[in-house]
Amino acid sequence: MSQQQTHLVHRKLDIGVQKVPKQDAGDRIQNWDETYLGFDLNAAKIEAQRCIQCPSAPCQEACPVSNDIPGAFALIEEGDILGAADIFRETSNLPEMCGRLCPQESLCEGSCVVGFAIRPDGHAEPAVTIGKLESFCTDFQRRELDGYPRPKYSAASTGRSIGIIGSGPAGLAVAEILALDGHSCTVFEFWPEPGGVLVYGIPNFKMRKQIVDDYIEYLEGLGIAFKCGVYVGRDITVDEMLDGEFDAVFLGTGAGVGNELGIEGENLTGVHRATDFLVRGNLEPDQLPENLRDVLAKPRNVAVIGGGDTSMDCVRTAMRLGAENVTCVYRRTEAEMLGRAEERINAREEGVNFDMLTAPLRIIGDESGQVTGVECQRMELGEPDDSGRRRPVPIEGSEFVIEADTVAIAIGYGADPVVPKTTEGLNATGKDLIEIDGSGRTSRKGVFAGGDNVNGADLVVTALADGRRAAEAISEYFSTLD
Ligand SMILES: Cc1cc2nc3c(=O)[nH]c(=O)nc-3n(C[C@H](O)[C@H](O)[C@H](O)COP(=O)(O)OP(=O)(O)OC[C@H]3O[C@@H](n4cnc5c(N)ncnc54)[C@H](O)[C@@H]3O)c2cc1C
Ligand code: SF4
Repeated sequence: MSQQQTHLVHRKLDIGVQKVPKQDAGDRIQNWDETYLGFDLNAAKIEAQRCIQCPSAPCQEACPVSNDIPGAFALIEEGDILGAADIFRETSNLPEMCGRLCPQESLCEGSCVVGFAIRPDGHAEPAVTIGKLESFCTDFQRRELDGYPRPKYSAASTGRSIGIIGSGPAGLAVAEILALDGHSCTVFEFWPEPGGVLVYGIPNFKMRKQIVDDYIEYLEGLGIAFKCGVYVGRDITVDEMLDGEFDAVFLGTGAGVGNELGIEGENLTGVHRATDFLVRGNLEPDQLPENLRDVLAKPRNVAVIGGGDTSMDCVRTAMRLGAENVTCVYRRTEAEMLGRAEERINAREEGVNFDMLTAPLRIIGDESGQVTGVECQRMELGEPDDSGRRRPVPIEGSEFVIEADTVAIAIGYGADPVVPKTTEGLNATGKDLIEIDGSGRTSRKGVFAGGDNVNGADLVVTALADGRRAAEAISEYFSTLD
């Protein structure tokens, strides 16, 4: 490195991290708007200047879709925000969403050299705020253009058609990429509206729904058809789709079946699976199937079982529903929690209590069948288990009751077996996860898969990466049919 370059790096390392403004905690629990207000142009340019443009770009390597982060930040630094947004869109279909939702501390930002560097005076600074810059420049672009950038070219119809099952990140990425190449795409979705967990799970305060609505509108503009309220495996099978109008099928069915605790009282009134609680709290009744349209009773004392990101979504939803006491019940300590620290900080600021080293024994109800509390037991940590985290061990005689009129169970998700069970020749694991090769091809010719139904419950960005890989394999497959 030349002396001039070394000097430039030192100058960049001297720039302090730009704080992303967020709504005050007291205000934000009174509304459902996004917690983070986002960068303004000036702060974004300063924050982008913090990137030292390392040639090896470990941030890009740690990003599941390989976003050219240094390339985009060089343009933000110069004030070319639209150019930076275009760079993110080259490798990602959902940059404004990933920028808000990725656990950056264990992906791009977790590898950012700026976060590891010790300055001459010995102090350290956080990594460059990559995710929030990504959403800043792509939001900015949609505002400037009044929508998504229009495709640079319009491909002629190839005459090939694909049925895509599931409208989450994986399915939407496949649909966009193949539609842009001139293939006919029809997306089948069980919920009344498209978007998968982006709509039916992730709360408004993490990402406003308008972003997904705008993206769906853009996809419809590309000619993609959405058939909602269709449960594939019951209303139509994959075999029927392949025998009928479709040359190929992509399975992007996610992992949406909430795990059960397997303890007494899970069916009491007021006890909810996490997704049911979140969608009823965050969406309008007309966005829900009929069985979920009853408005949630205003909770007073809420216990949420589980310590991951879904659990944080539930506790923060409960605060916004007006609950007086909200407790997260988790059987290990914060050090073993899998979700984002940022979400726990936000939850604590909003007044959520954390009962760590606590496991539920049974859910208690009154004679009318309404939940009244959760009997719990204190735990201590033992030896590490298969997950590598220290195992919770019950402390005899430590039972106690947490009073609750509402309980949400947020202890993870599994895949729905219906598609593997109703599709001839489709191999799945014991946990109903679909088996694929490195490109997204399943054991059944013409059927591709990706996202949580392959990986188990994971992330928006990993589902997106799978969808992008599968779209390539599907294009290749179509070319063999010509
Ligand atoms: C509450 C919650 C919060 C989360 N928060 C984050 C976060 O902050 N950051 C992050 O990165 N990840 C988060 N995740 C995980 C992330 O949302 C998922 O990993 C991602 O959405 C998976 O994408 P996918 O396309 O595989 O499936 P999904 O988004 O699950 O979409 C699958 C779709 O397929 C539909 N479907 C399933 N079976 C059928 C069928 N037989 N017929 C028709 N349709 C069917 C489902 O209804 C669903 O809409 C969260 C998950 C949950 C549940
Ligand atoms: S997609 Fe996720 S991991 Fe990749 S740069 Fe954006 S925020 Fe980071």
